[in-house]
Amino acid sequence: MAEKGLLVILSGFSGAGKGTLVRELLRRYPEEYALSVSATTRHPRTGETDGKDYFFVTKERFEELIGSDGFIEYACYVGNYYGTPREYVEHQRELGKDVLLEIEIQGARKVKEAFPEAVLIFIAPPDAGTLAERLSGRGTETPEQIAGRLKRAAEESRCMQDYEYLLINDDLDSAVERLHDLISVQHCRMELNRLTAERLSAELSRYLS
Ligand code: 5GP
Repeated sequence: MAEKGLLVILSGFSGAGKGTLVRELLRRYPEEYALSVSATTRHPRTGETDGKDYFFVTKERFEELIGSDGFIEYACYVGNYYGTPREYVEHQRELGKDVLLEIEIQGARKVKEAFPEAVLIFIAPPDAGTLAERLSGRGTETPEQIAGRLKRAAEESRCMQDYEYLLINDDLDSAVERLHDLISVQHCRMELNRLTAERLSAELSRYLS
């Protein structure tokens, strides 16, 4: 049976390049990772597809799902609900895939409480100037919206140190490989390998005189 996959939480400022990083990780290592698609009550943005970017649901449906324990975590963020569907995540983990959750800080904290073995990674740009450039370079937001995102980034940066790892997304190619290495290393953590360690120890005990 495959070893159960890990829960990998990825958070970061808007414009930090999280989405691109995750897509590239999945493209390079499709057998190893699965991306959890969240449910949300916010409206789809232009270009977003239901079931791919999010499951867009009504507030009533979201609350029903809360009631039936359908989420491993959910949070309210800027006036909308966002939640991680339990069934998909559990199924992928049983298949041995590491499941990537792209979620914000409140959700990250809840997942860590419920699943202490989850890995918390914060993705950030190398400096504030790069973030501002990336946001304006997208060309999709007005100067006011960009200012709003930078303000939010300043607020969110206060929680960065609650994460276990900080991954600087400077160059996409190397950041993807660092992310993959970081996750791979987690599989070697002793707390996840107690049974193997015990088996080895039991096997070797026959050599004790
Ligand atoms: P956006 O509306 O820009 O797509 O997402 C807003 C924030 O919600 C982002 O920080 C995103 O990572 C976070 N988010 C997306 N899905 C979930 C989820 O299932 N749970 C939580 N807690 N946050 C989420």
